[in-house]
Amino acid sequence: MEQEFFTRVDGELYCEGVKVKEAAETFGTPMYLYSAAHLRKRYRDFEEALKGSPHRICFAVKACSNVNILDLFAKEGAGFDIVSGGELYRVIKAGGDPRSCVYAGVGKSKAEIEYAVENEILYFGVESEPELERINAAAKKLGKKARVALRINPDVDAHTHEYITTGKSENKFGLAPEAARTLYLKMASAYPYVEAVGAQVHIGSQITETAPFLEGAKKLAAFIKELKVQGVSLKYFDIGGGLGIVYQNEDPATPAALVNELLPLVKELGMTFVCEMGRYMCGNAAMLVASVEYVKRTAKKNFVVVDAGMNDLLRPALYEAYHEIKAVEEKEEKFVCDVVGPICESADIFRKDCEIPAVEADDLLAICSAGAYGFSMSSNYNSRGRAAEVLVEGDKARLIRKRESFEDQVRNETTCE
Ligand SMILES: *Cc1c(COP(=O)(O)O)cnc(C)c1O
Repeated sequence: MEQEFFTRVDGELYCEGVKVKEAAETFGTPMYLYSAAHLRKRYRDFEEALKGSPHRICFAVKACSNVNILDLFAKEGAGFDIVSGGELYRVIKAGGDPRSCVYAGVGKSKAEIEYAVENEILYFGVESEPELERINAAAKKLGKKARVALRINPDVDAHTHEYITTGKSENKFGLAPEAARTLYLKMASAYPYVEAVGAQVHIGSQITETAPFLEGAKKLAAFIKELKVQGVSLKYFDIGGGLGIVYQNEDPATPAALVNELLPLVKELGMTFVCEMGRYMCGNAAMLVASVEYVKRTAKKNFVVVDAGMNDLLRPALYEAYHEIKAVEEKEEKFVCDVVGPICESADIFRKDCEIPAVEADDLLAICSAGAYGFSMSSNYNSRGRAAEVLVEGDKARLIRKRESFEDQVRNETTCE
C-alpha cells in the first residue's frame, strides 16, 4: 500500500510497468528508482483536499532535489519550499516559477538573499531580526520590495525523532511569538523595503498525527488574530511541512484528514493555506536498489554486504531510521542477517537482524521508502561516486542522474603538478 507503485507480479518486482531487475541491468547499482505516478498522486492528494479554497502547495526541495523531479512537480502546478540559493537555482533550472518559492532557514547568506530578492520569490520565511535587516538591505540595494512571513516557533512537541523536531522553544528555528509580534508591529517603519505577507510554523518531520499540526496552527491562528487587531493583516497562513509516511507500521494521517482539521482556522481568517510537504510527496516514491557483493558468515552473524552504503542513504546511520528491505527476486529459503554497506564505519548498517530471503552474491535487494532525504543527503564519503537516479513513467525508465565517475569526484579539486 505505502509503495503502491512497486508491486510484485509472478514473483517479479516492478516499479510501475518496469521490472526492477531490468532497470538494474540497464543502469547499474546502486540506483534510486522513482515512480512518477506516485509523485503525481501524492501531490494530487493535497490538491484534492484543498480544492475550492485559496491555497499554495509547495514541494520541499531538500527532500529530493533532482531537477527532473522538480520539473514534474512544477508541471503539476506546485510551488517550492527552498532552504538555500542552490535550491532556488535548481527550481529555476527545472522551469519552476521563482515567484512560487518560499525560503526557510536560519542561515541565509547575503548572496543567497540577494539572489532570492532578485528573483522575486513569494516570501522569505524569516527566522531572526538580523536576517530581516539583511533582507531589507538587499531589497533596498536592488530597488525592490521583498515579501516576508515570520516563522513562529509555537513550542509544540511534534512527537517525532528529536533530530527532526523543529518547533520546540529550545530548537534553533523561528521566533518566539512575542519577539515576532514586536517585529511585525515595527516592520513598516523600521524595515521599509520588506512587506509582511504571511506567518509560518514548521514543527518537524515524519509527524503521523494531526494533533501537533492542529496545536501549532491554533497558536498561529490566535497570533494572527491578535496581530490583525493591532493593525497588521496577512495573506498567507503557512503550516509548514512534516506529514509522515509509512516506513514500517505507522498509520499516518491523510492529507484530507489534516486539511479538514486545519482549513477552518485558515478560512475563518480569510487567508490562503500554504503547506510545504517534502517527505509525504516523495518518501514512498523510490527504492534504493543495491546488489549483494558478499554474504559473509561469521560465528555470530550473517552479514549481507551490499554495494550501497551510508553515503547513498544516510538515514539509518543518522536517525536509526527503519527501511524495509526486500529481495528483488523471491527465494524459498530465508535467513537472519545484518544488511550492511561497504563503508569503513560501524554505523554503515541498513538493518540489523532482519529476516530476508537467503540472497547470494550478485542478487538484488531493494531498500524501500528511500525517496525522501535519500539521494539528497548522499555524499562522496569513502570516495564513492553518487548513485544513479532513474525515473519510471509507465513502462519507460529514464536516467535522470548519471552515476558519478571517479573523474566527477575530483573535477573541482586543484591538481598538483
Ligand atoms: C524540511 C522542511 C520542510 C519539509 O519537511 P517534510 O518533513 O519533508 O515534509 C518544510 N518546511 C520547512 C521549513 C522545512 O525546513
